[in-house]
Amino acid sequence: MHHRRCPNCGSVEFRGVGTRNGLERAFSWLVSPYRCGLCGRHFFLYRWLAPLTGTD
Ligand SMILES: [Zn+2]
Repeated sequence: MHHRRCPNCGSVEFRGVGTRNGLERAFSWLVSPYRCGLCGRHFFLYRWLAPLTGTD
């Protein structure tokens, strides 16, 4: 099962961040970048799994 957790530390404390480069932006329709508030890990979540953060 997929969970909305940081893949590094398992924290649920993370927030959406902006795309950093063209590659991320190219895939922004598919995944959204997030940054873990606990360990700082930058990762991606599929849009249909990601929490709604109102970044659009
Ligand atoms: Zn983490």
